[in-house]
Amino acid sequence: MTNIDQELKKIKEEVINCKKCSLYKTRTYPVIGEGNHRAKIVFCGEAPGAREDKTGRPFCGAAGKILDELLECVGIKREEVYIANLLKCRPSQNRDPEKEEIETCVSYLERQIEIIKPEVICPLGRFAMEFLMEKFGLKDQIEPIGKIHGKVFEAKTPFQKITLIPLYHPAVATYNPNMKEGLKEDFQILKKFTQ
Ligand code: URA
Ligand code: SF4
Repeated sequence: MTNIDQELKKIKEEVINCKKCSLYKTRTYPVIGEGNHRAKIVFCGEAPGAREDKTGRPFCGAAGKILDELLECVGIKREEVYIANLLKCRPSQNRDPEKEEIETCVSYLERQIEIIKPEVICPLGRFAMEFLMEKFGLKDQIEPIGKIHGKVFEAKTPFQKITLIPLYHPAVATYNPNMKEGLKEDFQILKKFTQ
């Protein structure tokens, strides 16, 4: 195992034992994140849903099926990228994450990003977009997701240059099929980063 694999494994063990917020009480499995440990692109969703909670895998339910389709339409294999969430444990009834839950949990995601060092991060949906825009010093450029989706932002940190591309959450296409075409259009930009 390389250092990268070892560091990610350490996060996994910490999350499995995590009791930092009350969500551990109602989860079945935490959803730590999965994919290529050297991914150029990291996708960040919001929190596990019912199916993810039962399996421990991100985006494996209805929204995951849409994400798979979107990746396929731009020729990206799921194994090439890394997929994680803001929260590692499922909020019951799929309610929105609370601010304190995000603040408590997000250090795991931040460490995953620091270890993987992707070129591109795609927040999926409003919560991930707001958190990641703020984290990368782009707070004053935050707009509603309906406006900001598909736009490309460059952020510099002391350690890395990173491209942020906020996208609609794929779940929107499960209750509004018309959204899928727009999502597919937004995904086209990712081709630039996979060649
Ligand atoms: N929605 C998310 O935000 N993340 C998942 O892993 C599944 C559904
Ligand atoms: Fe820990 Fe995050 Fe799960 Fe809360 S949601 S128990 S902080 S891993």
